[in-house]
Amino acid sequence: MPNHYDVIVVGVGSMGAAACYHLAKRGAKVLGIDSQQVPNTNSSYNGNTRVIRLTYQEHPDYVPLLRDAYQLWEEIEQESSTKLFHKTGVLYAGFPEGEAISGVRLASETHNLPCSTLTHSELAKQFPQFTLPEGMVGALEPEGGYLLSELAVETYVQAAQRLGAALLTSEPVIDWSSNAQGINIRTRCGTHVAAKLILCAGAWSGGILRLPDVPLTVTRQVLGWVRPRRPELFQRGDFPVWNIDPHGDRGMSGIYYGFPMSNDPAEGNGLKLARHHPSTPMPPDEITEETFAADEEEILLPLRRYMPDALGQVQTIKVCKYTNSTDGHFIVDRHPESDRVHFACGFSGHGFKFASVMGKVLSELALDDKTQRPIGFLGLSRFANL
Ligand SMILES: Cc1cc2nc3c(=O)[nH]c(=O)nc-3n(C[C@H](O)[C@H](O)[C@H](O)COP(=O)(O)OP(=O)(O)OC[C@H]3O[C@@H](n4cnc5c(N)ncnc54)[C@H](O)[C@@H]3O)c2cc1C
Repeated sequence: MPNHYDVIVVGVGSMGAAACYHLAKRGAKVLGIDSQQVPNTNSSYNGNTRVIRLTYQEHPDYVPLLRDAYQLWEEIEQESSTKLFHKTGVLYAGFPEGEAISGVRLASETHNLPCSTLTHSELAKQFPQFTLPEGMVGALEPEGGYLLSELAVETYVQAAQRLGAALLTSEPVIDWSSNAQGINIRTRCGTHVAAKLILCAGAWSGGILRLPDVPLTVTRQVLGWVRPRRPELFQRGDFPVWNIDPHGDRGMSGIYYGFPMSNDPAEGNGLKLARHHPSTPMPPDEITEETFAADEEEILLPLRRYMPDALGQVQTIKVCKYTNSTDGHFIVDRHPESDRVHFACGFSGHGFKFASVMGKVLSELALDDKTQRPIGFLGLSRFANL
C-alpha cells in the first residue's frame, strides 16, 4: 500500500524546496520528489549565486511579494544558522530611457523605496571600476545584494527534513491524476498518494503541467567567472552587485550583470557575471554542461566595453536554463484540471529571489486553498482560452 501524504511537491528545486519547508513547518505530512539529486547542477539555481533586489524594474507589482521574500530569507537564515544573503547594494547603470533606469525609478517611486540616482560624473567618481559612455546615469539601491542559491536550496531541504518532510530523489515523476479521493503520482518506483499536489518542475514544467495554452520556452544562459586584472577593486565590501543596460550602445543588447568577489568557495572562483536576455532556446531535457568559445566572448564583452580593470582570463563557464513565459512574468495558480493541484512555473530568469515567498504561497494554496499574498497578476486568467 502506498504511503498517503497531505501534500506531494514535484520538483524540489528553488520553489519546491522552500514549499517543502513551509508545508512541514505547518505540520503537514509532505513528500518532495525530484528527478535528480538535490542540489544538482542541472536545475535553474546552479551557478552559486543569484541577485536579489527590491526596486523591481520588471513590474512594480512584484514589490509587495519581495518585501515578504526578504523577511522569509531572514527567517530561514536564522532558523538554520546559515548565511544565505549578502546585502551589497545593487548599482544600475544605463541611459535614462532604458529599461533598467526607468523601471527602477518607477518601482522606487510607486513603492517609496530607498534608491539614489547618480549623474554620469557622480557614477564615474563613486564607481571608478566602470568606464561608461557619455549619457549613461546610475541608480543605487541599498537593499539589494545576492543570495547563495545552491546553498539556499540545500538549506531549505535540510530544514524541511528536520521538520519531518520525506524526500525522494533521482526519481522522475512520470504522470499524475486526480479524483475525488486525492492525487496519484506515478514514478518509476510506484504510485504515491496525496490529498494535494504542488507542481514546480522548472524547465520541465511544460510536459508535466499539460497546459498547451501556456507556452514555456526554455533558453540556454551562460554564466562566467573571470580572474580580473585588478581583483582588489572588485571585492565585496567595496564593490556592489551591478546591472548595466546598454540599450543598443555599440550594438549591445540585453542586460549585463555581475557580483562582487569574495573568498567564499560557495560563490565560485573569480568575478562572476552574466547576461540577461537575449538567449537561445534549448530542449528542457538537454544537459547543460557543454560550453563554446562564443560563451567566453559573451562574458568578456561587457568587461572590454565597460570594466577594463576586470578583464582577465575566464576561469569557469557554466550554463543554466531559464523557463520563459510569453510575457516574462511568473505563472502561479490552481491547475484547471483539479482544485487539489497548484503550480508555479515560468520564472523567466528572475525567480530565485522569490523562492522564499513562493514556497510560502504554494504551501498556503495547498493547505488553505487560498493566499492573502498579492499573486493575482501572476494567474492563468491573463492567457487566452483559460
Ligand atoms: C543563469 C541564470 C541566472 C539567474 N539569475 C537570477 C538572479 O540573479 N536572480 C533571480 O532572482 N533569479 C535568477 N535566475 C532565475 C532563477 O534561478 C529561476 O527562476 C529559479 O531557479 C526557477 O526555480 P524553479 O523552482 O522553477 O526551477 P528549478 O530550481 O530548476 O527546480 C525544478 C526542479 O524540478 C525537478 N523536476 C523536473 N521535472 C521533474 C519530474 N518530472 N519529476 C520530479 N522532479 C522534476 C528538477 O530536477 C528541479 O530540481 C537565474 C537563472 C539562471 C539560469
